[in-house]
Amino acid sequence: MPETHPAPQSKEAQTEHQISDVQEADCCIVGGGPAGVVLAYLLARKGLRVCLLEMHTDFDRDFRGDTIHPSVLEVMDQLGLAERLHEMRHSKIRSFNIQVGDDEGVTIELGFLKTKYPYIMMLPQAHFLEFMTEEAKKFPGFQLIMGASVQELIREGGAVRGVRYREHEDDEWHEVRAALTVGADGRSSRVRRLAEMELVKTAPPMDVLWFRLPRREGDPEGVAGRIRNGHILVMLDRMEEWQIAFVILKGSYHHLREAGVEQLKRLVVETDPTLSDRIDHLQEWKQVSMLSVESSRLKQWYQPGLLLIGDAAHVMSPVGGVGINYAIQDAVVAANVLTKPLTSKSLQTNHLARVQRKRKWPTRFIQAFQAVIQKRILANALDTSKQFKLPFFLRLPLLRRIPARLIAFGIWPVRVEN
Ligand SMILES: Cc1cc2nc3c(=O)[nH]c(=O)nc-3n(C[C@H](O)[C@H](O)[C@H](O)COP(=O)(O)OP(=O)(O)OC[C@H]3O[C@@H](n4cnc5c(N)ncnc54)[C@H](O)[C@@H]3O)c2cc1C
Repeated sequence: MPETHPAPQSKEAQTEHQISDVQEADCCIVGGGPAGVVLAYLLARKGLRVCLLEMHTDFDRDFRGDTIHPSVLEVMDQLGLAERLHEMRHSKIRSFNIQVGDDEGVTIELGFLKTKYPYIMMLPQAHFLEFMTEEAKKFPGFQLIMGASVQELIREGGAVRGVRYREHEDDEWHEVRAALTVGADGRSSRVRRLAEMELVKTAPPMDVLWFRLPRREGDPEGVAGRIRNGHILVMLDRMEEWQIAFVILKGSYHHLREAGVEQLKRLVVETDPTLSDRIDHLQEWKQVSMLSVESSRLKQWYQPGLLLIGDAAHVMSPVGGVGINYAIQDAVVAANVLTKPLTSKSLQTNHLARVQRKRKWPTRFIQAFQAVIQKRILANALDTSKQFKLPFFLRLPLLRRIPARLIAFGIWPVRVEN
């Protein structure tokens, strides 16, 4: 376990707050999402002292994505965790079906992928995060503090040397000092803001409304996409229920809200008439979450003593549902590069730059691919003035393999190297 003791502060690291205790660790990770928990597991597994701080008191999140892609399953296999992960209640997506209007549509299969796991596992994200942290607790250097909201960075000698957080339970201020601080605190990262790191933003033409409806016998399995009359609906199989994404034009949410939930229900049924027998489960706006679609990335993912990974470094558009995959791939690469210098206490800023170099291009490429899909396909599908047709690469079975591979593995699969 990381050591805890009261410690005096150097002048530069002073804060106006009364600090009740100071802990020391090799690595302090802010954020217990997929990136943070996987990195914490991998570093603790190598005998490092890791302090993982999560501001919520549990891992329950609504609509955060429950997808575990083949590349992550391969990593879990390497770590000897895949079998136990599969013992948890889950479903498997082996294909995506996309229908335009009344057409039969096209099906993108994953079965051709050369992997032990040619499917996307659907497992509630909270269960995955609980599973990984329980496994990490088996290593003596791992410490998880729930309800710990990071508020300040500690800077000394021009480098980040840890964080200050407030604990939900006692509302007191605490410090964690570490050779490396990792911001894995998601799309609206406070660490990013505190470090004043610059984001390059793009504004794709859509927002997404998320809600759940029950699944019924005879429903398709996996993922189904429906495009009709300027509306796009994507349904993700979550065993007893569908997690539904209803894509709308950017900025149209307020009009829809003013028109009332009945209008939303009408549009949903118009897009997929098979949902008419259960649409009444949707009764109020409280059941609907609005995701403002964003795609952005940091120019530089690091500063001396600080690295950002996952959504904190690059917010992914929901196209292809690759955010979790990319967050975990960042964690694996960070552990591959940083374990040795952290162990030998020789961490330098160029090690952090190497993590960015390895992850920058896969991230840029997938964001460019998502932008093309959004601009060329989704924007056209939302445009009622034109007749929409699926692009040629989705109509040709062999070319359909390209997006399937990209979604399953990213640009290239990432493996644990030590
Ligand atoms: C509505 C919606 C649906 C999505 N669906 C999918 C999908 O189907 N498939 C997919 O791959 N991706 C999906 N995503 C994207 C996916 O959720 C993210 O890409 C992924 O979770 C990123 O992981 P992360 O670990 O980087 O960050 P996050 O999962 O965002 O985790 C960040 C963690 O940091 C914690 N935190 C934040 N601030 C602080 C602080 N100051 N102190 C301490 N802790 C803090 C948060 O509580 C959170 O637990 C979806 C996202 C949304 C919003």
